[in-house]
Amino acid sequence: MTYYRDLSKYVYSESAIPDMNVGWLSRWRLFAGGAVSSEFMEVLASQVRMPRNQMRGGHPCHFCSALRLGGVAVTARIFEVEYRLGSAEIHAISRNGEVFSAPNLIYHYIDRHGYRPPGEFVQAIIDGGEGKVHKSAIIRLREMVEDAPRMEDRVDAAIDLIQVSPASSVNWLSEIVELPSCHSYFRRRVKVALQLL
Ligand SMILES: [Zn+2]
Repeated sequence: MTYYRDLSKYVYSESAIPDMNVGWLSRWRLFAGGAVSSEFMEVLASQVRMPRNQMRGGHPCHFCSALRLGGVAVTARIFEVEYRLGSAEIHAISRNGEVFSAPNLIYHYIDRHGYRPPGEFVQAIIDGGEGKVHKSAIIRLREMVEDAPRMEDRVDAAIDLIQVSPASSVNWLSEIVELPSCHSYFRRRVKVALQLL
């Protein structure tokens, strides 16, 4: 997987939502280590269930597979369900609306390899779990659901909204996915996220 320094500008894909990178680790680079709170891990786990920027294929964990060729596929057991990691991202939205994007492997990096993400990211995950996201970020995401040129961005914005502001978005999105004109990819992905609430 491509390495990006923590808190560098997001450039990995065409995705229009994220502002900054977190957790794009490389086995060739040292990373920050240390304990994180169980509260943080719990919210992070609930996030991993809602993939953003979902891609085909997958990246293995290069720390687990350092002595083997080809890498080792990674799964995480979250709320009794086995999730395959390595082909999607998660978003964390700070109180002032900045969006961090991390590969969902970040859950495994923290859980199994002792990685400690930057404090800004940890705080954004916790704040998002408590619904403390600035109104401007909610408005930006709603506009993206309606107007983003790429369907993938509309889906990701909808899932971001479900994550950080379910009270303001669930009824609205539930109506959108039932419209005959709703794009089938949007309907399928957003319905799965809505069912997780
Ligand atoms: Zn690993």
